[in-house]
Amino acid sequence: MASRISRMITLSRTEKQKGDTMGRKLLLAPSMGCCDLFDFKHQVEYIDQYADFLHIDIKDGNYVKTYSIGPDFMSALKPHVKTPMDAHLMVQHPQDIIEECARAGAAYITPHTDCIESDAFVTINKIISLGCKAGIALNPAAPLEGIRYYLPLLSKVTIMIVDAGYAGQKVIPQMYEKIRTLVKWREEMGLDFLIEADGSMNRDVYKPLYEAGADVVVLGPPALWNKDKDIEKAWSIMQSEVDSELGN
Ligand code: MG
Repeated sequence: MASRISRMITLSRTEKQKGDTMGRKLLLAPSMGCCDLFDFKHQVEYIDQYADFLHIDIKDGNYVKTYSIGPDFMSALKPHVKTPMDAHLMVQHPQDIIEECARAGAAYITPHTDCIESDAFVTINKIISLGCKAGIALNPAAPLEGIRYYLPLLSKVTIMIVDAGYAGQKVIPQMYEKIRTLVKWREEMGLDFLIEADGSMNRDVYKPLYEAGADVVVLGPPALWNKDKDIEKAWSIMQSEVDSELGN
């Protein structure tokens, strides 16, 4: 999977250099804690066939004022899925659960910038030493400049397009510019990390994110589960909305 993604990203850059963005795939990362508990096995097995990442939102009720699943959720999924899991840590002290996330089978571990300000290199190197890929997430108010020095260590940067942890917010359009700046930095620095957009995803947002240069979008209830109770129909509706916006 990693090599497939890497090939797709390499392909996308080649196409961009040619001024042709058609055909670049927008990678899909459903937030698996949103699966219907009464249809859980079916939804996980279905999504695992089509998703590029399984996004795992972990919230501690402290960094964000809401709660969700923890690393045990990944341990339960791991034997049954082939798609890489990404642990998005909306927790005040990510260092406390990094090892548990790695043991639980996370392929990517993604803390927030303001939770690792005093020990960014220690934390990121610890994630890498545990055999995982390191990501970083930035809330809308977090400056890109803060991640510049450790960008070469990262495999993914998650740009929150709304504040983390709260449902029902409007997308903050300045985040498209943040993504464009990050794309520029990636090219200037010759790096290869993925750029992910997370928060309030839905139709009408895919195109501006794609054009700004996002590689991955995180899908929550508005983008996927609320489309239909049947996950197969919901996925089909979501995929057709993505495809129509991207002109596929
Ligand atoms: Mg998330």
